[in-house]
Amino acid sequence: MPIRPENRWLYPIDWRQLSQTVRFDRAGARCEGCSRPHLRRVVHLGDGRWWDADVRCWRSDRGKRISMKAGFVLASVRVTYVVLACAPLDHDPGNSASSNLKALCQRCHMIHDAAEHRWQRWWNVFRLRAIRDLYEDPRVTRERIAGR
Ligand SMILES: [Zn+2]
Repeated sequence: MPIRPENRWLYPIDWRQLSQTVRFDRAGARCEGCSRPHLRRVVHLGDGRWWDADVRCWRSDRGKRISMKAGFVLASVRVTYVVLACAPLDHDPGNSASSNLKALCQRCHMIHDAAEHRWQRWWNVFRLRAIRDLYEDPRVTRERIAGR
């Protein structure tokens, strides 16, 4: 996940090297959540199960080998291009302890950050409403709602 320019100063100056060390040296260019490989197209079912073409088996959303005896609906098969990112587990980019960093694919990263993203959406709406309350003329807003 790209770092927003306004947040870049929160990250350590050697973030690029830290990220590369975690993603490639430690994780071996595979997601530490589900084992999906970096910069590869991966066939998956949308629920976390994915096809590991290297060892020709299905894996769970945790990277464990699973059998697909019951089969699956071919229409539910999707393809995703996997890009690993280095994620701070406590959402604090300043905490660059090795135990706080994890190499995650987009799916695992989004799941890990879901609560943080919900909070950020709430904050953005709250902030915009507060600014509107401060600076908008309530008579204009009432007229707009009434369609005049
Ligand atoms: Zn993953």
